[in-house]
Amino acid sequence: MGNVQHIAVAIDGPAASGKSSAARALAKRLGLIMVNTGTMYRAIAWATIQQGIDPTDTQAVIEMLGRIELSCGVENGFSTVFVDENNPGAALRQTAVNERVSKVAAIAEVRALLVQKQRDYLELGHVVMEGRDIGSVVFPNTPFKIYIDASEEVRAARRAAEGIEDAVGQRDAEDSKRKASPLVVAEGAVKIDTSEMTLEEVVSAILQVLRERGAPEDLLNRA
Ligand code: C5P
Repeated sequence: MGNVQHIAVAIDGPAASGKSSAARALAKRLGLIMVNTGTMYRAIAWATIQQGIDPTDTQAVIEMLGRIELSCGVENGFSTVFVDENNPGAALRQTAVNERVSKVAAIAEVRALLVQKQRDYLELGHVVMEGRDIGSVVFPNTPFKIYIDASEEVRAARRAAEGIEDAVGQRDAEDSKRKASPLVVAEGAVKIDTSEMTLEEVVSAILQVLRERGAPEDLLNRA
């Protein structure tokens, strides 16, 4: 269907590696739709808080999926997520959500629901999508795969600078250990360590990968 002519740039990596900033900057430069998939998992975690559900109770979380409507859209080029008619907004970054998001993200049924919604974005245009399993599971056939990393010290410092309490090491361990689509370096992904790089340098490195791997000229010319 519409998927054939649209490209997907897959950006994966651990928490606070700088992948969101890189994806956002790239989206702006090239006019791509920027899809933040962490927000979708966070919305499910937020919903469990609203409904008083234990995120480790797999059955209860699966039942909740049948009761809520998760609507994913685009506003000003960025993905949006609503739970029923609510936009959780900044609440998605709160500590309580950080603490339970990896638990709901380990549930295969949660992932199946969200992966479908993520693939649907390609109907709307060229996308840059960031998460943990974009190159490995969501768009395994895209040639444009980037794995972004940074040292644990740098990542913890970035989160602290944002004033967010977030045990990134703990979350990464849970994300890497889980059975369902763990965080991995996807086959064919180019690794970029952002510890010592500026945002501009990271974007240039990604553009270089797109160029080398045959991204359409008209797209690259927008940069
Ligand atoms: O990217 P962000 O840190 O906001 O992601 C929050 C959590 O959502 C991750 O720690 C992970 O548990 C989950 N996630 C995932 N797969 C993705 C994106 C996020 O499991 N593609």
